Amino acid sequence: MASNHALILLGPPGAGKGTQAKLIAQRLGVPHLSTGDMFRDAVKRATPTGLLAKPIMERGELVPDSIVMKMVEERLARPDSGKGFVFDGFPRTLPQAEQLDGILNRLGFGRPIVVDIRVDADKLIQRLSGRWTCSVGGEIYNVFDMPPKVQGICDRDGGKLVQRADDRPEVVTARLVAYERQTKPLSDYYQRQGVLETVNGAAPVEEVSRRVARIVDDAVRRDGHL
Ligand code: AMP
Repeated sequence: MASNHALILLGPPGAGKGTQAKLIAQRLGVPHLSTGDMFRDAVKRATPTGLLAKPIMERGELVPDSIVMKMVEERLARPDSGKGFVFDGFPRTLPQAEQLDGILNRLGFGRPIVVDIRVDADKLIQRLSGRWTCSVGGEIYNVFDMPPKVQGICDRDGGKLVQRADDRPEVVTARLVAYERQTKPLSDYYQRQGVLETVNGAAPVEEVSRRVARIVDDAVRRDGHL
């Protein structure tokens, strides 16, 4: 498979970006880059970025672009980024998307492949309220449609499953509003660039992941890279 993969997974919170990003990143052999995971890690370690991001995340709002971009640039400077990456939860605003275009250009990457995972609002709320994450390896489960074998325990590494603080109902609404206002316009942005593909995120996980894999394979065949 050709090198230089930059895959962007768009979609509202709860669409399944994290689950799909992990699967496709493993398949492509490139890092999975979740800005949400990076911020949660920074909060846990109480770094300056974490201290700044914590109250913003607790309100379900977006962290300022300048902070997001600095963190992403630092991550991309690491040697494992040469082959490419799968972005999950980034970009989330038009300025982030525009700056990412510049970065990909500088790194000599081709056009990204952008997959918009679409799911209705009702389903999203159910997904977010049922989501549990492994405190060790970050595996994602859902009590409604992807439960662990043993309640509260990760199938993969036996880690304790925890619920994200921002999956509380009052914060979920704010996150969906932030998505509608700030992130949804990115679909048009990438549509205009001719790189947007959409998948139905309400389908079972395996079906969505087959769709995403096919989109990536077709793009690689067509362009030689992403
Ligand atoms: P996520 O896990 O992607 O839902 O992200 C959790 C939270 O981290 C979001 O609600 C935001 O507060 C913050 N965050 C993650 N990624 C970004 C981003 N690209 N831009 C701004 N804020 C972000």
